[in-house]
Amino acid sequence: MQEPTEQRLLDLFNEAIATDAIFPCYQAQINHSTGRLVGAEALMRWKHEDGFLSPSFFIPILEKHDLIFKADMHLFDMVCRFQRHCLDEGIHVVPISVNMSRYDIFRHDYVEDIEAVRQRYDIPVQYLRIEITESSAIGGMELITSVLTQLHEKGYLVEMDDFGSGYSSLNILKDLSVDIIKLDMNFLSGKIGGRGGIIISSVVQMAKWLGTPVIAEGVETREQADYMKSIGCNYIQGFLYAKPIPGTEFIDKLTTLQHEPMKSAMNLVKTMDAGKFWNPDSMETLIFSNFVGAACIFTYTLPEGKVEILRVNHKYVVEIGMNLTEKEIIGSNPWDNHKTASRADYERAIKKAIETNDEVTFETWRDFHSPCCGDDSICVRSSIRVIGKAGTQYLIYAMIHNVTAEKKAFDSVAESERRFRFASEQLNLYAWEYTIATKEMRPCFRCMRDLNLPPLIENYPEPLIESGVFPADYADFYRDMMKKIDEGAPSLDAIIPLTTARIPFHIRYTTEFDETGRPLKAYGSAALIEDEEKKKS
Ligand code: C2E
Ligand code: CA
Ligand code: CA
Repeated sequence: MQEPTEQRLLDLFNEAIATDAIFPCYQAQINHSTGRLVGAEALMRWKHEDGFLSPSFFIPILEKHDLIFKADMHLFDMVCRFQRHCLDEGIHVVPISVNMSRYDIFRHDYVEDIEAVRQRYDIPVQYLRIEITESSAIGGMELITSVLTQLHEKGYLVEMDDFGSGYSSLNILKDLSVDIIKLDMNFLSGKIGGRGGIIISSVVQMAKWLGTPVIAEGVETREQADYMKSIGCNYIQGFLYAKPIPGTEFIDKLTTLQHEPMKSAMNLVKTMDAGKFWNPDSMETLIFSNFVGAACIFTYTLPEGKVEILRVNHKYVVEIGMNLTEKEIIGSNPWDNHKTASRADYERAIKKAIETNDEVTFETWRDFHSPCCGDDSICVRSSIRVIGKAGTQYLIYAMIHNVTAEKKAFDSVAESERRFRFASEQLNLYAWEYTIATKEMRPCFRCMRDLNLPPLIENYPEPLIESGVFPADYADFYRDMMKKIDEGAPSLDAIIPLTTARIPFHIRYTTEFDETGRPLKAYGSAALIEDEEKKKS
């Protein structure tokens, strides 16, 4: 069809409004997981001669001649009329989004004007939504913030249209309290494998964290819809499901399809205000950044057990060390750093946190690689807690400590203990460790085996006196010896017959002190006198 000239269009405009030649078509918004209808967008159409004019042709002209407000108000009026008709006919209605040009919101009386129309038709406010574009912020953040506040006060939900088309997207998202985000696949070049895919998934993640539902627009293929679903965005508007259709046809959809309300991607625990979390000046951010120690927030999705890190604070980056950056940590797949067994430990802990709704603390080893430090393993003690849930996806808050140094020290103690055990075996020596403060005794492997002792004996030496390892007539003598140790004797030795067989042993103690001179532990050994004699001779 031949497009009319600009002047011809302007001449036809008033009549087109009066005769409803300018009218809305409705494009369904569907939950790709359930196939249910969640809403629709009203798109402006202009019937001209025997065809339709494209909005991308006539809208810029109407904007240029300051007629767009009149056209948008007319469309809003027709949408209200449509909703009134459905409500009167007992047709189950869904919320319909109406586009507002950025020129509309520059008018100070814009919110009052649409409110007057809505009230005239008596449409509950939840059945109407307003779409604004990022470019509305061109007029300044104050203006758009004030319009948003007014719309929210009246109860309207506001959608951010064409999100991702501007470069300042992420900042706008955290500064403006929009209720729904619309991501246009076309702006992201349709290629979901490359950069577009990264932008989409990071926007969806951020939106999830903000608790804002996302609608993917311009979805033409099942592949695109499945991709969006895989990153947690189920709401689809596009030719795959429906083209924009006139009201009469849309009524068929309303009556044949099942409906469901649109839900936010993630329900945050009530006490957390996610919006404030992204605000660099908020108390939440201050707390996360400065007071909580090393922390991160990630999502965990069942059944695959997929993990995505959404945010880490500076201390987290420092705690992990390895000279990794925040970006490298967020961009990585955390499971790549876990061996199979430690991933299993981690997932077990997550499941426990989900079941108990409580904090769970555990340790796992992770392998890291960084350009500067090469490969290294670190041991991380994590305390995790579930802070949000959406379907089978959980939002998890983790506090971490790098306990590698602690672990290595522990391992070296274990190693010396192992050597000590071998030595005792070789020397025909029985050995044990006695902790003064707790009166705990830890016998060597050989003691355990030959005397049938447990690995830990409390209230030492009483149980061994009772069992007869120390004969009754030596009980008080031995108790007295232990008392001296408790009081800080640096070393002691005595010959005591042991067991009912009364085999004479040379018992020796050496005490270990802390830096203030307090006795900590005493190391005991028992050597067969026969062996000692043999050695001497
Ligand atoms: P928009 O608000 O981003 O609307 C979505 C556009 O994408 C519509 O184009 C729709 O028909 C189209 N679309 C939907 N699904 C698909 C798909 O799967 N693939 C592709 N390639 N496109 C799809 P339309 O109707 O031509 O509208 C174009 C633009 O005109 C709208 O973009 C909006 O910016 C503006 N517009 C439409 N109606 C109104 C209105 O009532 N008021 C104002 N101010 N602007 C409007
Ligand atoms: Ca739109
Ligand atoms: Ca759009």
